[in-house]
Amino acid sequence: MDTITETDVASAGKVSFLLTCPNCGTREVTDFGYGGEISSRPRERPTLKELGEYNYFRRNRAGVQREWWFHRSGCRAWFIAERDTTTNEVLLTELPREPDGEGAA
Ligand SMILES: [Zn+2]
Repeated sequence: MDTITETDVASAGKVSFLLTCPNCGTREVTDFGYGGEISSRPRERPTLKELGEYNYFRRNRAGVQREWWFHRSGCRAWFIAERDTTTNEVLLTELPREPDGEGAA
């Protein structure tokens, strides 16, 4: 899931921005690994078409999307960011919440 490497970012030149880890604070994006856009999991027994779409299709939105990031040079936590893909402006970062039903009565 490590799709952006430090070499990629350095060779891209202008692709640099700051991300705020919910645990550690603001760091250069090179501290983090990109985990891809957040997509909803298919139901328990998906059809092959649903499974294929989940595995291989991305919206690749031009604008604000929710995505997974991993603080690989820090606390090694996974967290969620809302980022405008056209400007790399990060609107928020947060730790993921427990799935619904976890610990529920
Ligand atoms: Zn961290």
